[in-house]
Amino acid sequence: MFRDRGVEIKTPEQIAVMRRAGVVVGETLEMLRAAVAPGVTTKQLDTLAEEHIRSRGATPNFLGYHGFPATICTSVNDEVVHGIPGDRVLHEGDLISIDCGAIVEGWHGDAALTVAVGHVEPELVELMRVCEEGMWRGLAAASLGGRVTDISNAIETYVCSQGDYGIVEDYVGHGIGSAMHMAPSVPNYGRPGKGPKLVEGLALAVEPMITMGTIDTRVLEDDWTVVTKDGAWSAHFEHSFTLMPGGAMILTALDGGAAKLAELGVPCAAS
Ligand code: MG
Ligand code: MG
Repeated sequence: MFRDRGVEIKTPEQIAVMRRAGVVVGETLEMLRAAVAPGVTTKQLDTLAEEHIRSRGATPNFLGYHGFPATICTSVNDEVVHGIPGDRVLHEGDLISIDCGAIVEGWHGDAALTVAVGHVEPELVELMRVCEEGMWRGLAAASLGGRVTDISNAIETYVCSQGDYGIVEDYVGHGIGSAMHMAPSVPNYGRPGKGPKLVEGLALAVEPMITMGTIDTRVLEDDWTVVTKDGAWSAHFEHSFTLMPGGAMILTALDGGAAKLAELGVPCAAS
């Protein structure tokens, strides 16, 4: 399962460029979070994203990726990931997961969040909270000298402690750098202490996808959109990060992760 050979180790200068790409992604997602509202189409969100990424001198990395036709993935309700923006109109009570990536000088950033459309049911607010917190627990579990599945185990342990959620296994986190998807895989479940060692210069995208029901997924006829087999609604959060001597740097968080990692009692290189 682990392609630990060929893990790409970046120089500090390359990480600095990845941080620039990450900030563009973080800004874009915050702008989209504010733009989500009943009556908005997923295509409108995609247009806003592409305009913002290009205005910052960056390039969308999803556009054209294995033929993907848009800048962002928009996955609504029972759609887990890889939904294609289009004419779908968002309605009060929907959940939309938005996945976004950008390239600066050949270096990639990748992040995602789930947003409520207007007022949503309390159990869906809780679903989003557990997914986002699970991602942060995973990020906080990463330290120099540790192993990749320390992250996986922290996510699973937290999510399972919060209720009867499904943790999707068909899609996982990944290495990132000169390409969006690289070795190693970063599962959202499993025993700690396995997989490649966490070293300086490694960059990973951590991205739990959790559901109100089954973990089983299928792909729609558009060959992209992943939905839950039982129709359960899902949430998806993602950040790209790296480890430095001073702690973790969350490349796609606008504050580098300083606020949230401090809350979790973990050193942050951005502090
Ligand atoms: Mg992503
Ligand atoms: Mg990703």
